Order: sequence, then C-alpha cells, then structure tokens
Amino acid sequence: MKASCKKWLEGIFKNWLELQNWQMRNLKVRFCEMCFFTKFPVLRGSQKPKVGISACLLGCPVRYDGQNKLDLLFAGELSKQIDWVPICPETAFGLPTPRESIQLEGDPENPSLRKVNSRDDLSNTYRDFCRCKVAKLPPLAGFVFKAKSPSCGMRVSVHNQETITGYAPGFFASAWLQSHPDLPSAEAEELHDPAKLQEFLDKVSLSGSF
Ligand code: SF4
Repeated sequence: MKASCKKWLEGIFKNWLELQNWQMRNLKVRFCEMCFFTKFPVLRGSQKPKVGISACLLGCPVRYDGQNKLDLLFAGELSKQIDWVPICPETAFGLPTPRESIQLEGDPENPSLRKVNSRDDLSNTYRDFCRCKVAKLPPLAGFVFKAKSPSCGMRVSVHNQETITGYAPGFFASAWLQSHPDLPSAEAEELHDPAKLQEFLDKVSLSGSF
C-alpha cells in the first residue's frame, strides 16, 4: 500500500475514533443532565419573582472580549420560574464591547479598579456609578452574579503587579451587597449544586421583594 494511501486511511480512522469519543462524552453529559433535572429544584409559591442576573450569563455578548457566558441553567429551565432582570454594569457605565480588560488592584479592603494595559483608574467614577445603578434598580428578590468579574464577582482576586494580595467583591456586586444585605445573592457556579439552588430559590420566594 502506498504511503499516502496509508496516511489517508489512518486519518479517517483517527477521525472515526474522535467521533466515538465525542459521542460517548455527549451521552455522559446528557445522562448527568437527566439525573439533575428529574429532581430539578422548584420555586415555592405561585408568583414569578424578578431576580437580577449578570447579563452575560443569559447569553448577551457584553464581555470584554465581545463574547458571552451563556449558562443554560439560568437561560433555560430556571427562566420558566424566574423573571430575570439582566444587567451588565460595565456596558451600562459606557465601556465599549470589546474593551480593554480591567482588574481590582491594591488593598483588598479598599481595592481600586484599573484598566490592565493603559492603567486608567476607574475607581471613583465607577464606584459612584454602581451605587447609583443599584439604587435605581426595580425591586428585585435576589441576584445571580458572574464569578471572577471585577464588576460582578462576589470574591474576586485583587492584584498587585504579578501577585494576588487578597480577594474582594467586584464593584457592582459590592454596591448590591451593601444595599441589600438581606436578599439572596449567589455566584452562578455555586447554583449548579441542586441543594444550593433549592436553598437560593427558597430564600427568593421568602424575600417578598417582587
Ligand atoms: S460586567 Fe458583569 S454582566 Fe457585564 S460582562 Fe462582566 S460579568 Fe458579565
């Protein structure tokens, strides 16, 4: 058999193997989803509460890189039980998409917010904006945040040059948590645990803020 023909057959076999692996992985994911959704957490009560959510989690392409962070747990099944109020504080502030990335820096007790490359300091104007934005929100029964964002994360790395000096909430999450300490707030990732999601939904149904 010619070498080129052998290589061609090997290529086909490799593709076939990759397809089988992909199908097996896909089957496992579907099975895990079925196990999760047979006991899908439910909101008690008949009302459909309004709950805030980081807009990128619902698929809005508002991230610094022009992408989204669509999370089907929230955009799918939970949207039947909850009236989501999507908010992207960075684009609402007027930052473009795509945009230069920003990060928390300095003292974790009172971090500043800077653009990573240009070093522009947005701290004062953005902090004031986030407070105003939170004050103007409609009544919400809770909030689901995108983790690790310097705006929306609830526990975000604070940088000092190459090192991480500690953790702090992002500017928007901080404004929300200070003004609504009694309302349920969570990062999206943790709500993928059915027990934590049920606990969150129970608190939402009890909050009475909708
Ligand atoms: S600011 Fe919040 S909503 Fe906007 S892209 Fe970042 S994490 Fe998503």
